[in-house]
Amino acid sequence: MLESKHSLPILLVGQGLAGTILAHTLDQASVPFLMVDAPKTFFTSSYAAGGIFNPVTGRKLEKTWLVEELFGYLFPFYASLEKTLDCSLFHPMPLFRPYANEEMKSWLLERKEAIHNEYLCWEDKGVWIEKAGWLDVESLLTYSKSYFQSKKIIKEIVINPSIDLTVFDDEVHFQGQAYACVVFCEGYHAQQHNPFFGHLNFLPAKGELMKIRSQEPSSDYILNKNGFLLPLGNHEFKVGATYRWDDFSNQASTSAQLDLRAKLKTFGINEYQEIEMSAGVRPATQDRRPLVGFHPHLPLAIFNGFGSKGVSLSPYFAQQWLSEWKGERQINSEASIRRFYHLFST
Ligand SMILES: Cc1cc2nc3c(=O)[nH]c(=O)nc-3n(C[C@H](O)[C@H](O)[C@H](O)COP(=O)(O)OP(=O)(O)OC[C@H]3O[C@@H](n4cnc5c(N)ncnc54)[C@H](O)[C@@H]3O)c2cc1C
Repeated sequence: MLESKHSLPILLVGQGLAGTILAHTLDQASVPFLMVDAPKTFFTSSYAAGGIFNPVTGRKLEKTWLVEELFGYLFPFYASLEKTLDCSLFHPMPLFRPYANEEMKSWLLERKEAIHNEYLCWEDKGVWIEKAGWLDVESLLTYSKSYFQSKKIIKEIVINPSIDLTVFDDEVHFQGQAYACVVFCEGYHAQQHNPFFGHLNFLPAKGELMKIRSQEPSSDYILNKNGFLLPLGNHEFKVGATYRWDDFSNQASTSAQLDLRAKLKTFGINEYQEIEMSAGVRPATQDRRPLVGFHPHLPLAIFNGFGSKGVSLSPYFAQQWLSEWKGERQINSEASIRRFYHLFST
């Protein structure tokens, strides 16, 4: 990127979790930008998210991809965001994974030495996972919106990229203003409506969760047993989550409600009141890696594809996006859209 272009602001499209985290990263680095976001009635993933971060994944309790880089960055990043926004959002909390059954217990214990890592603490009934917790995503988005409004750097508008943007070789015009680059952070909407990046390897997955009130579960930890039970305080919990690849409507479904009630049963929770259901579409990808980087020929970029791990992936990759923008270093090759440059015509 040419240094002279850095005097123009950047345009960010979408204030979901991804756009919000990238915006704060630019704000902290004093990079000028304007953000546009559709009205809240627009369907998002972020407002439905459980917000959990967890350094361990899968039945074999493996460390999640890039765990040292991601989790080393995550804690100070969200702590500093709480200071900027003057609110409490980030809730580190242990996560407990009970053994699914006796067979699984024996299988894991026989391989304990090979499987063990620094995040695991083994017990008779299951495994505790450290450095886990949850982010209050809804509050993050609400407080951030007020923060950006107070700085007059956010507008409510649905952008149609083909009509609203005039793309030149080295800048983009929108509503009479020139921008150095447009960064699309539209979540799964990109697949349907983005003429520049919609052909990338999106594999959106609808998810639903249920908020309940109950006196039965512990409020001290997140329970993770083929689903999760997340304590929010005041005896309220989130139960999640479902996965579907054949329905992208914004309606909560009866099948998901039944599925989540069944999960509660397996968690041993019998007495509870259902408060509400929420639904969203995760911007997942076929290779389970994010879509971060720059269009090969035009001053356009993307910050998307965070799937079911937006909370832990987006802060680190926002920093990576900024580093490449500043010409310092390239984005991790597994996450960079350089892996799809052969799909862009010249
Ligand atoms: C049920 C469920 C549970 C989940 N649980 C977790 C969890 O525990 N932990 C975790 O890390 N992740 C979780 N996720 C995933 C998480 O929600 C996503 O990784 C993350 O929220 C994606 O954020 P995003 O900003 O990319 O997309 P979105 O949240 O979809 O945001 C996209 C934004 O772009 C805007 N937009 C789109 N098109 C336009 C346009 N043309 N013009 C203007 N604005 C536009 C939309 O209005 C929206 O504000 C969960 C998801 C679901 C559905």
